Amino acid sequence: MTTFAGKLLRIDLSNSTYRVEHIPDLCYGRFISARGLGAKYLYDELKASADPLGPENRLIMSIGVLGGTGLQGFSKWAVITKSPLTGTIFRSITGGNFGVWMKHAGYDLIIIQGKARMPSYVHIDKDTVHFQGAEDLLGLDYRWVQIKLKEKHGPHTESACIGPAGEKLVRYAVIHSGERTASRGGMGTVMGSKNLKAISINVPIRKPSPFDEVRFKNLVKKQINILKEHPRRKNMTTLGTPYITTVVDGLGILPVRNFQEGSIQAIDEMSGNEFYKLKKAKAGCYQCMTRCGGMREVTRGPLSGMQIDGPEYESIFAFGPLLGLTDKQFVINANALCDYYGIDTISTGVCIAYACELFEKGIISTSDTDGLDLSWGNEKSIFSLIQKIGKREGVGYLLGQGVKRAAEHMGGETNSFAMHIKGLELPGYDPRGVKGYALSMATSNIGGSHMYGRPREELSGMVDSFTEEGKGASIAQVQKEQALEDSLIACTFGNTGLDLQMYFELLTAATGIEEFESPDNLVKIGERIVCTERCFNVREGFRRKDDSLPKRMISEPLMNAGPSTGQVVKNLDKLLDEYYKALGYTGEGIPTAEKLKDLGIEELAKKII
Ligand code: SF4
Repeated sequence: MTTFAGKLLRIDLSNSTYRVEHIPDLCYGRFISARGLGAKYLYDELKASADPLGPENRLIMSIGVLGGTGLQGFSKWAVITKSPLTGTIFRSITGGNFGVWMKHAGYDLIIIQGKARMPSYVHIDKDTVHFQGAEDLLGLDYRWVQIKLKEKHGPHTESACIGPAGEKLVRYAVIHSGERTASRGGMGTVMGSKNLKAISINVPIRKPSPFDEVRFKNLVKKQINILKEHPRRKNMTTLGTPYITTVVDGLGILPVRNFQEGSIQAIDEMSGNEFYKLKKAKAGCYQCMTRCGGMREVTRGPLSGMQIDGPEYESIFAFGPLLGLTDKQFVINANALCDYYGIDTISTGVCIAYACELFEKGIISTSDTDGLDLSWGNEKSIFSLIQKIGKREGVGYLLGQGVKRAAEHMGGETNSFAMHIKGLELPGYDPRGVKGYALSMATSNIGGSHMYGRPREELSGMVDSFTEEGKGASIAQVQKEQALEDSLIACTFGNTGLDLQMYFELLTAATGIEEFESPDNLVKIGERIVCTERCFNVREGFRRKDDSLPKRMISEPLMNAGPSTGQVVKNLDKLLDEYYKALGYTGEGIPTAEKLKDLGIEELAKKII
C-alpha cells in the first residue's frame, strides 16, 4: 500500500491513442512527484529547441504523492511544460479538484503530446480514454465548459480546461480547474496549441492507502491540531492573500504605475479588511481547512451578477496600484474578465501597465491603441484593453504576446519599460526593496516569478532586505526548499507550522520509500529538481546573461517607496557569483560535472557540458 499510483497516462492527440506506463519507485525517491517528476520527464522527453507551441511539446499534469490523503493543503496539482512565454521549462501550480481526480483514476502524471486535428477534448472514465470533438465547447469560458462536461459525463466529473484566449493562443492563457487556475507561463496556450479544449475525469473515488496507515493518520491529526490554533492559518482563512497588500505597501515594494514607485496613497482602500467586507462566501481547495479564498460579486462584464473566487493579492496589485488605481470593485471586475477569457492577471496587468507608461511618455498615442486613452487609472480603457487581449484583436494582439515580445516589436527605448525576466512578467514585489527577491527572480528557471524561492526572512524583517552581500547562499536554499514543497505539493499558504522533519515523516509514512533517507536529503532532492530545471534551460541556450533584471531595477532608484525609497540593485553580478558558487555552478550559471555527480544526475552532463 502506498499513496502514489505508480502509473502515468500518456495521451497522444495526433493519433488519438493512449497508453498506461509504469513509473519506477526510484523516480519518486529521487524527484518525489508533481514539479520534480514533471521536470524529470520533460527533460528526458523533449529535444532542445522544440517549439513550445508545436506538437512535440509535452503538457504534463501531476498530482503530489500526498494529494487526496486527508492531509490539509496538499491536494493542489501542477502543470509542467516548455513555456511559450519564456522558452524555459515551466511549472504552474493550481487548486481545483482535477488533480485528486487524476489520482482516483489511478495516475500520478498525465503526459499529453501531439496535436489533435480538430478542436477536441479528452474524457477519462473507469474503463478507457475517449477522444471527443469539442465543437460545442469552442468559445466558451471555463464555467460553461465545466457545466457542459458535467452534463455530458455526470455531476461527479472534474475537468481542466481553457477559455477563449487559450484557443486563440494568447501567450499567457491559463488552465482552469473549478475556480482555480494554473496561471503563469502560458500553460493554457500550450493546451490550445494542441487543439485541446479540456480534459475531464469521472471515475469512482479511490482513497489512497498510506504505507503505514496508523502512523500517517496520527500525523494528519497532528497537522490538523497545529492548523486549528495557528494565528497565520486563522489570518489566511479570514482575510486570504489580500491581507498582503498593505504589508507590501508598508515595505515600499508595492509596484505602482509600472514599477515607477513603491507605495500609493489610499492603499487602505485595498486592505485585507476592505476586501473582507466584500466576501460573500468562503472558498478553497480540496481538503484544505485554511480555505484562503473568498467569493465576491462581479458587477461588470460577461460574468456580471455572478461571484468569482478572488481576487488574490497578485490580481489586486496588477489591476490596482500597478495601473494607478485603488478601486477594489474594479479589481474584482477585471479579475473576472481575465477569468472569463482565461488569461493570467499578472501578465495582463503588466502588459497594460507597459502600454500605459508608453502612453504617458508620449511614445504611443490613441492612434496606436485603437483609440483608447491609456492615461493611468482610466478604468474604461483598461477594461476594453483586457477584452482586446482576450480576443487577440487590435492592440490586444501585440500585448497578448507578452511584454517582452511587445517591446521587441516596438523597439527603441521601449524595452526599458518592459517589466519581465526571461519573458515572464514581474509579480507584485519590487525587487529593488528586497535584494534576495531580486536575486531569486533573476535566477529563477521559470523567469520573473515570486514563487520560485521566497526570501521569507527578508520579507518578515528578520534579515536586512537592503543588503546585497551574503544573499547568494540563502536564496539558493529557499529555492531548493520551494522545489521540495512544489514536489510534495505543500501549498505555500496552507503549509502553516510544518517543517522538514514533518515532511519527512509524512512522506515515509505515506509511501514507504526508503530513498528519502532523511529530512536533509529532502533538501538535496529539492536541489536536484532545481538543477534539472537549470540543465533544461542550459540545453536551450540560457546562460548568465539571462539571469538578469529589467533595466529599471539596476538603474533607477525606487521612488515614493517609504522605507525603500532610493533603493536600487547595485551589483547583480556579485549576487550572481555568490549564488552560482553556493549551487556549484560555473560563472556562466552552468552546473558543473561534479555538482551533477553529487546530485546523482551525471547523465545530464552529456547534453549540457
Ligand atoms: S491555503 Fe488556499 S491556496 Fe492553499 S490549498 Fe488551501 S485554499 Fe488552496
